[in-house]
Parts: sequence; C-alpha cells; structure tokens
Amino acid sequence: MSDRILLSPPDVGPLEEAYLLGALRSGWVAPLGPEVDAFERELADRLGVGGALALASGTAALHLALVALGAGPGQVVIVPTLTFVATANAVVYTGAEPVFVDCDETTGNLDPELLDRALTRLRGAGRRIAAVVPVDMFGSCADYGRLLPICAAAGVPVLEDAAEALGAQRDGRPAGAFGRAGVLSFNGNKIITTSGGGMLLSDDPELIARCRYLSTQARQPVAHYEHHDVGYNYRLSNLLAALGRAQLRRLDQMIARRRALRERYAKAFGGVPGVRLLADDDHGSNCWLTTVVVSPVEAGWRAADLAAHLAAEGIETRPVWKPMHLQPVFATATSVLSGAAERLFADGLTLPSGSALSDRQADRVFDAVHRFLDG
Ligand SMILES: *Cc1c(COP(=O)(O)O)cnc(C)c1O
Repeated sequence: MSDRILLSPPDVGPLEEAYLLGALRSGWVAPLGPEVDAFERELADRLGVGGALALASGTAALHLALVALGAGPGQVVIVPTLTFVATANAVVYTGAEPVFVDCDETTGNLDPELLDRALTRLRGAGRRIAAVVPVDMFGSCADYGRLLPICAAAGVPVLEDAAEALGAQRDGRPAGAFGRAGVLSFNGNKIITTSGGGMLLSDDPELIARCRYLSTQARQPVAHYEHHDVGYNYRLSNLLAALGRAQLRRLDQMIARRRALRERYAKAFGGVPGVRLLADDDHGSNCWLTTVVVSPVEAGWRAADLAAHLAAEGIETRPVWKPMHLQPVFATATSVLSGAAERLFADGLTLPSGSALSDRQADRVFDAVHRFLDG
C-alpha cells in the first residue's frame, strides 16, 4: 500500500527547513558552533538542569556518562531488561557488565522491589556496582520516588535513560533531571529529532566538562594536538543542532498531538475486555508511543491478531522491546526476573503514535481498529 501509516515518523516542516538553511548559510558546518551552544542552553533551561552536552546520539551520551561515573572492567551496571538495546550496549562499551532487572507490569518501568533485591544480591556477592540506569519507558517516567532512595541507600549513582521521554514529567520534575545525569535521544523516531543526535544532562559541572572533553578526542587545551586520554568523536553537528532547536520550539504542540491520539486509543479500547493501555494512568507522560496490552484469555484474541489486521490495512505496529535477557547477544548475562517483561513482550502492541499523523490518517487507524473490534 502506498500510503502506509508508520509508528512514529519524523515531524518536520517549514520551521525546521528555515533553521537548517540558516545554519548552513552561516558557514558553521562542523560539530561545534553557535547552534550547538544555543541548543544546549535552551534544553538545559527548559529542563531546569545546570548543564547540557549535545552529542551525536543518545547511545554516545549513555556511553560517556557511564565512563564519567567510573564504569569499567570488573564492575556491573544495572539496566532494565525491558529497554532498547542501546542502554545495555553502552554498558558493554565501558568494559562493565550489564545486569538485567525486570519491570513493573503496569508501566513497563524498572521494578523498585526487584532493583532492591538485585542490589542486595550483587553487593552480597562482592560485586562493584557503577550505576543504575532506569529507562523512562515509551515516555513515562520511572517511579523515581521509590527508585532514588533505594539507589541512594546502596550508594549507587543513577543515570536516567530519558531517551524516549523529553517533555515528560513526574512529581513536578522533568524527565532527564532525576539522576546524577540524564540522557535524551533525537533519533528519527523520537519525540523530537535531529535525524540523529543526543544530549547529556547534569547538574554536576565537572561531569559535563569531563564528558565534553572526552567527546572531542580528549584534546588538551593547547595549540598543538596533545592527548593524555583516549577520547571519542561524539559531538553533534551544528546543522543538526539547528534542526533540534526548531523541533524544541514545537515540542509542546507535538506532545499535544500525541496525547490526543492516546486519548482516542483509550476511548477506542475502553471497555474492551482484557485490553489496557500500558502506563495509562501516567498523566505526566509525553505519550511518545501508545501501547495496548492484551490478555488473550479475557479478550479472546491476541495482540498479534490486531497487528495482522492493521498490517493488512497498511498500518504499522510493533511489539514492545524484546527483553534484553532473551537477546542472544546477552545470553550469559545475570538477570533478576519476575516474568513481567516477557509477558509484555508477548501481549503488548505499540500503535501509530506520531505527531506527524494527519487527521485523515488517524481516522484510517481508528476505523481499522473499530472494524477489528466489531469483527
Ligand atoms: C532511542 C533510545 C536510545 C538510543 O538513542 P540513539 O540516539 O538512537 O542512540 C537509548 N535508550 C532508549 C531507551 C532509547 O529508546
């Protein structure tokens, strides 16, 4: 079908075009420049954090933050098993070992009780724990009211993977501002995009300065090229920072469109036996992706049946992330599990949620959903 409806395509238009062209014409075509500085300042201001560092990807931001927190060989880092692989990969880049902990089945976010158990078990075994990396799943903040005291009691720093959660908040605090450091992603399918890019956030100026230094090949501040550390080439291009600034100006409007879609899904599936929305009571969510969770016994059908029906009508859906402990690449990793992530992987289905979805496309999605539910 030609007019295929995608899950979360980029939402760009005339404002992005103007910003991008302006940056190109300014002559700053490099991984530094005034657009990068302004993008960092604007995001730090919006989230009320002390410092921000624009990087080539969210993965790069996770990697540098873990390095700055001291993660390395012989250490472990706790990561939710229900996440995108980048969270776990960044741990492996440092030489540390990821340990996977299961999620709360209502929200898909890191389960505080299991985290507590994992910390106790790892410390009892004499393992050194460099960090805990909670993920704000699909744009809903994890339960930091419970997670932060548990990590503080264990003396382990928190790195918030808010890659999916820009614009979300919980208990009056914005996503990205909960841990010692936080990470955002501007990949093509995220709530705002620079085509590819990321941001590291922290109130700790030394952490930001250290990561800034590492992100530019660890170059010493002297005229000749002098290096005392192995660095990385991780900075965001000035052109892409301009794109990000345009997107940031439209963030609230884009969240509102995603929220309107979520409310329509809530209405469409409301009262359908055995079906619920993932994290549906989290009003601080940025509504990045809306997911239904289907109990096949109660509903009489499976998430996969709905997926097949929508696919036949040219509508893209996806399962939730395949849990990390089920991934062949992490087959030997330590995990602390309840079965919740595996059940969400089996029964969850993520539906078209993008802010670029036209009203006509949205109507097509909901017509198809209603035909499925009525059939
Ligand atoms: C997208 C994403 C990342 C990685 O971000 P990139 O910018 O694509 O490198 C990390 N963690 C989570 C949870 C993500 O969804």
